[in-house]
Amino acid sequence: MKTYPLNDNIKNFASVFKENGFSLYIVGGAVRDFLLGIRNSDYDFCTDALPEQIMSMFKKVIPTGIKHGTVTVLFKKESYEVTTFRTEGAYSDQRHPDSVTFVRNLEEDLSRRDFTVNAFAANCLDGQIIDLFDGYKDLKNKVIKAIGDPVKRFEEDALRMMRLARFCAKLGFSADPETIEAATKLCENIKAVSSERIFDELSKTLMSEIPTVGLKIMEDTGILAHILPEVQRCRNTEQTKVGSTNVLDHIYNCTDASAKLNYSLTVRLAALLHDIAKPVTMTVNQYGFLRFYGHDVKSAEMAKEVMKRLKCSNKMIDDVCIIIANHMVRYNENWTDGAVKRFICRIGKENINNLFELQWCDQIASEGRAKVEEYDPLIARIKSLENQPMSIKDLAVNGEDLAKIGIPKSKEMGEILSKLLEMVIDYPTLNQKDTLLDQARRIRSTSDSQEQA
Ligand code: ATP
Ligand code: MG
Repeated sequence: MKTYPLNDNIKNFASVFKENGFSLYIVGGAVRDFLLGIRNSDYDFCTDALPEQIMSMFKKVIPTGIKHGTVTVLFKKESYEVTTFRTEGAYSDQRHPDSVTFVRNLEEDLSRRDFTVNAFAANCLDGQIIDLFDGYKDLKNKVIKAIGDPVKRFEEDALRMMRLARFCAKLGFSADPETIEAATKLCENIKAVSSERIFDELSKTLMSEIPTVGLKIMEDTGILAHILPEVQRCRNTEQTKVGSTNVLDHIYNCTDASAKLNYSLTVRLAALLHDIAKPVTMTVNQYGFLRFYGHDVKSAEMAKEVMKRLKCSNKMIDDVCIIIANHMVRYNENWTDGAVKRFICRIGKENINNLFELQWCDQIASEGRAKVEEYDPLIARIKSLENQPMSIKDLAVNGEDLAKIGIPKSKEMGEILSKLLEMVIDYPTLNQKDTLLDQARRIRSTSDSQEQA
């Protein structure tokens, strides 16, 4: 087997361990990716030195994950994460190992890892690669295979079933049949894994080159039905598009398009969730055609629930849902400037590009081609209106100004500001302090007289 290429800094780092009677290895992804010819300088080091021994060997050591035996060593301008050889106790809650035990040898540390191709170790003195579980053979055959008994490995940590899907998607590998069988048997255990870990794995799968390689493994093993039942349900809703006969295949094509075009996680999540309300909004019209009225807005509502369940950040939820809710909006040249500006306000300037990208993915998955050139006129109009007032903060008056003329800081003030904005969007030249204060007084007096009547 090839030897791992070590730079001088790593060799010097390893010498310090040797001088103190310890060994040092690079393990996991960095070695695997080197053997595959993929760049990966995200080094995970492991050693037989205990955390406190590492701390006494170097001046700058940060105890980043000391409970699990991980410290970060700052060594000549580089920072290296080093973990003491360890084994893990049972995962009785399917989430965290009950205990972590430090061990003296590398073999025991490697045998607690998930897949054969993730269990390579490279000696940091000479670059020699150690492969105890025939990982090199699996790498050549492009197979992800659990180390030892897959049922036991997935029982220890159910997240490994999603990692199986993720690595297949990332590397374009297939899954070993026995490993798949074990995941199928234990798919329900995924429910015990924390939402944060699930979302993290799902995101990494979506960020792979061909996400649907992983999504299909999740579907085939039954994991998808547990983590994203709303997506799974789309399998049984018919719909004929280019390369798909049901909504889930269309979703898969849309998601793969988002990855092929190297779009952001926001757009990829939106692609995955953009049509999830089709099963619940489907109707059949008088000619027997299927219709999905309102599926855009309803899909956004459902996506919000899904993402809340997965504990996504509020910003991610808002960014994904706004583009899903508007993914059916089509521009035409009859839009007035006011309509263009309202569109910009509704979506938010920073989300417009994401919306276009989602629509292009949807077009590729529906019609085989993104109609990018058709967006030029809208993009030009957005650009030409860019500097016009479009949000409350662009108004020539603020809450303080309104308070000074006796409007209390309340819901009423918010409503008045919104009405002023509506007016300014249609008549930008009216965005002047005195004019807006007059208008505010007028709006207030008309609403007062309406209330009295
Ligand atoms: P990537 O390049 O995508 O980060 P990686 O192989 O480095 O891939 P990590 O998730 O960073 O993946 O994990 C580092 C290593 O730790 C893995 O290669 C594997 O050996 C081990 N590992 C991580 N998570 C688990 C787990 N849940 N069960 C067993 N081993 C694991
Ligand atoms: Mg890694």
